[in-house]
Amino acid sequence: MMKQGQLLDVWERTLRIAPSVRPIALLSLAFPETDADKLAKLSLGTRDAHLLRLRQTLFGDSITCLTGCPACSGELEFAVSVDDLLQQASEMVAGDHHIADSGYRVQFRTPDSTDLFVLSRFETNPNEYQEQIVSRCIIDIQGPNESVETKDLPKYLLDQLTEEMQRRDPLAMIWLDLGCPQCGHAWQSLFDIAEIIWIELDRWAQMLLHEVHLFARAYGWTERDVLQVSPARRAYYLGMIGA
Ligand SMILES: [Zn+2]
Repeated sequence: MMKQGQLLDVWERTLRIAPSVRPIALLSLAFPETDADKLAKLSLGTRDAHLLRLRQTLFGDSITCLTGCPACSGELEFAVSVDDLLQQASEMVAGDHHIADSGYRVQFRTPDSTDLFVLSRFETNPNEYQEQIVSRCIIDIQGPNESVETKDLPKYLLDQLTEEMQRRDPLAMIWLDLGCPQCGHAWQSLFDIAEIIWIELDRWAQMLLHEVHLFARAYGWTERDVLQVSPARRAYYLGMIGA
């Protein structure tokens, strides 16, 4: 079980950093000894698989999501299982990343967090976002006769490359198929596990700080005193305080 003080420290550090760096700060909860630069070089799918397991440890398997329908603005609530999402990771393909077709040979890598730091504005359009990512991840292109620039790569090969990257790192982008029960509209929504953990951690930390405030006022306890009492016992004390 993770120490509450450690969680609180990571929450405080994460408050001050840009959203694009948050996943790495949160991942430090699972890998406190690993350098942040090294964590940033993990493929997005590997990173998010670790974050999904972290979410299970911290808050359990089932994630309740609330979103708005883009067509009628109606509210949609649904539950996602971390285990179900992790099933997709088992299909990850290892080995040399290249595709060869029609005399072209494209060598590529799978996207990592450093790509997201650069593309700090996260695109909500899957195609647009994917194009930008793909061009960053191309390492080398050999055409039928000579080296080829990314911009000169035929469109069908770019599409093939996109598919291949997703196939090799399926958890990198998790798109959920959603349907509005009120108007019938169907759409895809990007599932962002780091953002979900951050919202939950922020809520948890604010509740804990509020408890510290109540115990300090009632019993003169310090923050350290409060963190040494288990959440279950604190709930009893809070009941006696009348909070
Ligand atoms: Zn709707």
